Amino acid sequence: MNRTGIVQDAIFMEHVMDPGHPESPERLKVIYEMLEDEEKKSLQLIKVTPRPATQEELETTHSPAHIDRIASTAGKPHFRLDLDTSTSARSFEAASLAAGGLCELIRAVWVGEMKNGFALVRPPGHHAERDRAMGFCLFNNVAIGAHYAINNFSLERVLIVDWDVHHGNGTQNSFYSDPRVLYFSTHRYGFFYPGSGGATEVGNGKGEGFTINVPLASGSGDPEYGNIFERILKPIALEYRPQLILVSAGFDIHYDDPLGGMEVTEKGFARLTQILMEIAEVTAQGKLVLTLEGGYDIEGEKRSVNAVLRELAQASPLDKKDLMKKEKASDQRIARLTLQLSEIQRRYWKSL
Ligand SMILES: [Zn+2]
Repeated sequence: MNRTGIVQDAIFMEHVMDPGHPESPERLKVIYEMLEDEEKKSLQLIKVTPRPATQEELETTHSPAHIDRIASTAGKPHFRLDLDTSTSARSFEAASLAAGGLCELIRAVWVGEMKNGFALVRPPGHHAERDRAMGFCLFNNVAIGAHYAINNFSLERVLIVDWDVHHGNGTQNSFYSDPRVLYFSTHRYGFFYPGSGGATEVGNGKGEGFTINVPLASGSGDPEYGNIFERILKPIALEYRPQLILVSAGFDIHYDDPLGGMEVTEKGFARLTQILMEIAEVTAQGKLVLTLEGGYDIEGEKRSVNAVLRELAQASPLDKKDLMKKEKASDQRIARLTLQLSEIQRRYWKSL
């Protein structure tokens, strides 16, 4: 049975920033080539055609001034928005289709056309703020997607898990006082971009307790990530009972990534996907939708995306026994962090 959808379109390779920029079209080119090979083999994926996000959908997350600013770059060969973020002639079109494509995939999963999916799009989104493009991001795809699901399907609880090495400041701020979205982020912290995401940032007002930040030291790998997903994320998520799970899937935690400094392997990504699928199966009828964020080692990212897709499609599920042993062995190493997180989050979550 075909159970996994993907958003794939050549337009996403038309967004080009400065020469030599790590967030390059090449990132998707190798993933799309890998998909062609896999198609000839066993992996049967359902292609979802992207559509542009509507003005109304963009305005759930961004100010009209920001949308106008990005739209005004259309047709211009190069326009600088931020120190490390710029556009080319078709960037606005790509960014609109990235956000709209994710909405379309969420719709397809929500109505049961498929079980889960992965939007293989760029530009990424999780740094984009209400009124500002930053960190290679123009529109905040995952935030727009969550709003889309809440507005169109009357959802009350959406979980966003963000495993990109960078903190998703834009996503956090989109829902900081909103309990309809539980934002859970693991990220490198301490003299690292963008600087936000401390453990004590927990949301405010009605949203207090619905932001969970897990600041990690560089060098964290499969055991640490698996441990945190099992010991912190899983109990909280099962208590929250999300109706839909969205993932900001950044592959800059891969061990070969030039920017990340983390040690996650392809098996590690499969393991994290497996844990999310388990949670989704219990609370959300398996409804799990990922969207691509960062990831700058082209080959490592390609193999990791492959591992995630194989897990989603249950083409060759990972045998997790070895990894679970390593996770147990890492208990000591991250004991201080899990204790600190439990102390902060226990006020909001009985299960900790
Ligand atoms: Zn990143």
